[in-house]
Amino acid sequence: MEFAGEVVLVTGSGKGIGKAIATQFAQEGAFVCINDVVREDAERTAEELEKLGTKTLAVQADISKEEGVRNMFDLLFERFGTIDVLVNNAGVGDSLMVEDTTYEMWKKVIDINLNAAFLCCKAVIPVMQKKRHGKIVNIASVAAKKMSYHGGAAYTASKAGLLGLTRHLAYELAPYGINVNAVCPGATLTPLLKMSTSPAQLEAELVRFPMGRFSEAEDIANAVVFLCSTKSRMMVGQAIDVDAGELLAWTDFNSYQKYRKDRLRKFLGQ
Ligand code: NAP
Repeated sequence: MEFAGEVVLVTGSGKGIGKAIATQFAQEGAFVCINDVVREDAERTAEELEKLGTKTLAVQADISKEEGVRNMFDLLFERFGTIDVLVNNAGVGDSLMVEDTTYEMWKKVIDINLNAAFLCCKAVIPVMQKKRHGKIVNIASVAAKKMSYHGGAAYTASKAGLLGLTRHLAYELAPYGINVNAVCPGATLTPLLKMSTSPAQLEAELVRFPMGRFSEAEDIANAVVFLCSTKSRMMVGQAIDVDAGELLAWTDFNSYQKYRKDRLRKFLGQ
């Protein structure tokens, strides 16, 4: 088991992508701290993972608040004494145009998606530096490289900022044997996406993905676990897209195919 006895914290892991990440680490023998803003979600996930035969800790905390982060790490260090892997996963979206976004909404998204990651990184850096070992993975989004399809400007800006933090931190911590990288999911079938988008709309959106399907939470978790494994030990400051090919396209796949077929017919003089 690759992570036997290592201590892993996944923020926002009561459900969705975070839960899938926490589950894979637990299956690999890690002790996992499950954080969520909703206590029941954190506790339910921790109970499920305990059944896999590992140790868990459920911590209800709003990690967009300094006090929430402080309390979470107090509990984590009290229980496990150290940390080996931090996955900054908790995130929220907005879906408004800038003209309709209030400053409060903007700040809320930046606080949860970006500032919380900064606070959590600050908390683990001294411990990982001392051990000269550690992995940090930030869950960004393809929105960080283009612009969000479902989310608004605050979401896009927060995720682009997260990639900036990833690169800087990766450079600063590499001499200590600490790898910092990011994963950029495309649209992923989590409760969040299923609740906010009707089945018909989801079906219509599939044209954006040349693979013809959405990613599942487990696909994102696979990339995170890889980035924390010895197989990726020379990867520093990277942002891996797990997006079913969504970012590659200038257009939707059906239009692309039609354009190429039309060109071929013209070329053949048909
Ligand atoms: P999700 O199902 O909503 O899970 C996110 C979890 O984080 C929720 O349990 C949420 O709790 C929790 N959370 C929110 N604010 C928090 C806070 N202040 N403190 C602690 N926990 C908090 O979302 P997901 O789809 O799994 O997304 C996980 C990550 O992937 C996010 O960073 C998201 O931006 C990113 N991502 C997702 C997609 C996608 O298509 N799903 C695509 C690209 C990137 P509540 O919901 O109860 O508030």
